[in-house]
Amino acid sequence: MSETRPTNAATVLERPPPLSLGSAQPRTLAEEQLQERPQRSASQGADYDVTVVGAGPGGYVAAIRAAQLGLKVAVVEKGSLGGTCLNVGCIPTKAMLASVEALSIARRGREFGFQTGDVVPDYGTMVRRRDRIVEQLRTGVAHLLKKNGIDLIRGAARFRTAHELEITGPEAAPDGVRRLTTGNTVIATGSVCSRPPIPGIELEGVVNSDGLLALPTIPKSLAVIGAGAVGLEWAEIFGELGSRISILELEPRLLPPADAEVSTELGRAFQKKGAELLLGVSVERIERTSELLSVVYRRSGEPERRVEAEVVLVATGRWPFTEGLGLEAAGIHPERRSIPVNDQMQSRVRGIYAVGDVTPGPLLAHVASKGGEIAAEAIAGHSARMNPRTIPACVYTQPEVAWVGLTEEEASERYGAVRVGRFPFRNLGRAIAGGLRDGFVKVVSEPQYGEILGVHMIGAHVTDLISEAALGMTMEATVEELFRTVHAHPSLPEALHEAALDAWDRAIHKG
Ligand SMILES: Cc1cc2nc3c(=O)[nH]c(=O)nc-3n(C[C@H](O)[C@H](O)[C@H](O)COP(=O)(O)OP(=O)(O)OC[C@H]3O[C@@H](n4cnc5c(N)ncnc54)[C@H](O)[C@@H]3O)c2cc1C
Repeated sequence: MSETRPTNAATVLERPPPLSLGSAQPRTLAEEQLQERPQRSASQGADYDVTVVGAGPGGYVAAIRAAQLGLKVAVVEKGSLGGTCLNVGCIPTKAMLASVEALSIARRGREFGFQTGDVVPDYGTMVRRRDRIVEQLRTGVAHLLKKNGIDLIRGAARFRTAHELEITGPEAAPDGVRRLTTGNTVIATGSVCSRPPIPGIELEGVVNSDGLLALPTIPKSLAVIGAGAVGLEWAEIFGELGSRISILELEPRLLPPADAEVSTELGRAFQKKGAELLLGVSVERIERTSELLSVVYRRSGEPERRVEAEVVLVATGRWPFTEGLGLEAAGIHPERRSIPVNDQMQSRVRGIYAVGDVTPGPLLAHVASKGGEIAAEAIAGHSARMNPRTIPACVYTQPEVAWVGLTEEEASERYGAVRVGRFPFRNLGRAIAGGLRDGFVKVVSEPQYGEILGVHMIGAHVTDLISEAALGMTMEATVEELFRTVHAHPSLPEALHEAALDAWDRAIHKG
């Protein structure tokens, strides 16, 4: 890599300095692993070296990494192991999406050369399958905590001081209240569904993403307020199950943070499936009209209009959750509900770290988990840091959407005339063979050295394909390094290879 290329020091995992527990600095990964054998006695007289509050993907990963590093660790959880992600977020939605994807393939039997007769969804079985998967993974998290020698304390934690926690709950202690002292605390209390001030939001049939999981039957019609990942994935699920879908979004396009071209293509895909897209509208109120709910909305300067639906999903984002945590007793002051942290997940109070949805930044499970690893390593004296530039974002609609880095618009603002390569899946052998022609890959690169600034994908399996781009960006790769990499044929990642070539005007199969 040229020395004159812009560098991004934060992408480099520096050698860890000596562990705060007094051990010598490891020199190789093998030595580091030897050094990380659990020791399990808290330093400085506290009950624990690290207490993690919340056992979602941020918290349980922080706990496991801290235990790997030889620290004595407790996790406090007031609800279910796995947090939002496992119980009401990533996993249940992906289980339902897998069911509807299978359904849509079965419906395309004639195209692939088989007959199925009528393909009818069995919603009850799908829900039971989803719940079994969640239960299986919850058991897995419990097993991992146990295997790593982590104490799991059931109950709600509250700070008494920066190094003392009170845990309340029938299982926390015989009298329901337990106190413990801790050298460090990792706050991983996650987020809850936001509740915008829309009149009528309290009406029966108006639900958030948690409530949608509890629906006993498939609604005939669903209005989704908010076209972010959560709203769109549920629109995908119920659309495929036969609900009439309307999507209302304040911004003029679906998935506002995505690259504009990707968002337009996704909009086309939803329209092709019959969804009604009401973009650039503000929802004024929700009313009940006979059997249905009526969502009243307005476009700037236009009269009110309404769309009717049996169920209304409010998917307008999530709020960091710190209620009942007693942050003031620890000297922590949230800003716009979340806990500010540096790139090692340290809050402004020594010994208190925060990770995941409770911190500013994208509300994603892998961000929470990476934050958990980093916090644990920072506590142990290592110096890994969060690099916000290389975090992938995925949306599991059909077609899927995935991106990492800057959009073309953002990159142009920052770097001027960027070089962009595109490649459509319809030109790719594997995609044609698999009936997966929709979508494209787009690579945005810095004009002088060709460093990859962003990769944007829409199409089948792109949520898997994006990891190659994330690795490339973590290593500050150039488009040249991407296209010099040999990609197997026939395979979907060839689209990334061709898009990288196209950024240098040398795509082979573009046509
Ligand atoms: C429908 C939906 C789909 C999603 N899909 C994806 C996806 O596909 N990919 C993705 O990356 N992200 C997805 N997310 C987001 C992802 O779920 C969150 O980013 C992730 O769960 C955040 O992890 P966390 O550890 O910060 O918090 P959480 O998972 O929210 O866990 C926080 C935990 O802390 C506990 N807790 C809170 N306060 C206390 C206390 N005082 N004492 C003890 N315990 C406490 C809670 O009970 C909870 O278990 C989705 C979210 C939703 C709602």
